[in-house]
Amino acid sequence: MKIDPNKCVACGNCIPVCPMGAIAIDPAIGRASIDPDECVECFACFRGMSKEHLSSAMVRTIRTVARLFRFRFDPEPDICPTDAIVPEDLTWPRVVRRAFSDPQVPHESTGIHGRGTAEVKTNDVTERIKKGDAGFVIEFGRPGVGARFRDIQRVTHALADLGVEFEEQNPVTSLMTDVSRGSLREEILDEKILSAIVEIKTSLQQVPAVLREIRTIAREVDTVISVGVSTRCDERGNEVLREILQREGYPTYRGKTNLGFGRVTARHPQTIAK
Ligand code: SF4
Ligand code: SF4
Repeated sequence: MKIDPNKCVACGNCIPVCPMGAIAIDPAIGRASIDPDECVECFACFRGMSKEHLSSAMVRTIRTVARLFRFRFDPEPDICPTDAIVPEDLTWPRVVRRAFSDPQVPHESTGIHGRGTAEVKTNDVTERIKKGDAGFVIEFGRPGVGARFRDIQRVTHALADLGVEFEEQNPVTSLMTDVSRGSLREEILDEKILSAIVEIKTSLQQVPAVLREIRTIAREVDTVISVGVSTRCDERGNEVLREILQREGYPTYRGKTNLGFGRVTARHPQTIAK
């Protein structure tokens, strides 16, 4: 994203709209500008503000005259008065920023919609997480913080060393050059995004090791990491995972229970044979 210096009248309206704090007014030139390294191409500034098409020369003149009479002329707070915010044509690798930051576009770089898959929400029909498995969603970044792929790769490398299985349909997995090592494409490593989700599957026995590894790396990376872990209840509805998490010192809350109301369309082959 760019701000056209010929149009911008430095009203400052776009500054609070940016979730990354990437817009600032340079008092030396009296224009707003965007830090390209911090901008994650979320398009919030371009899409979130109404636009007027006032002449920038006219606005500057009115403001100068207004100052003489000791009052201010400011546009309404949700408006860019001169339509100065301009999207750029994004090329590889910068295009991944938008794919992971603008919720209104599909993943142009990966061909996958959304930040992750339906994960456990549909597990009652997909049986992706089987008995004895644990499914993890590991989220990197937040508005105001963001994440770089280099930090995400630190975690994916460590997870690969633990022998976890990366979800094939996940956008981060699709950017890997070597899934067995958790290596991402070299050219995207310095790209910054609003947030990304890594999805993995492993055994219940591995849950403590995975949590400890993520906890260690989370202290060293320049982002925030949130972890969700899920499993199937046993036949009596007992939550095996709860005991494991409590042993590791994590308080647990049952966030979601899927009751299997879905139509079964993807039975496991062995189940069909029976
Ligand atoms: S809202 Fe428009 S005119 Fe105002 S500072 Fe931002 S880019 Fe410049
Ligand atoms: S595209 Fe998003 S991150 Fe970039 S300047 Fe606009 S609001 Fe900020």
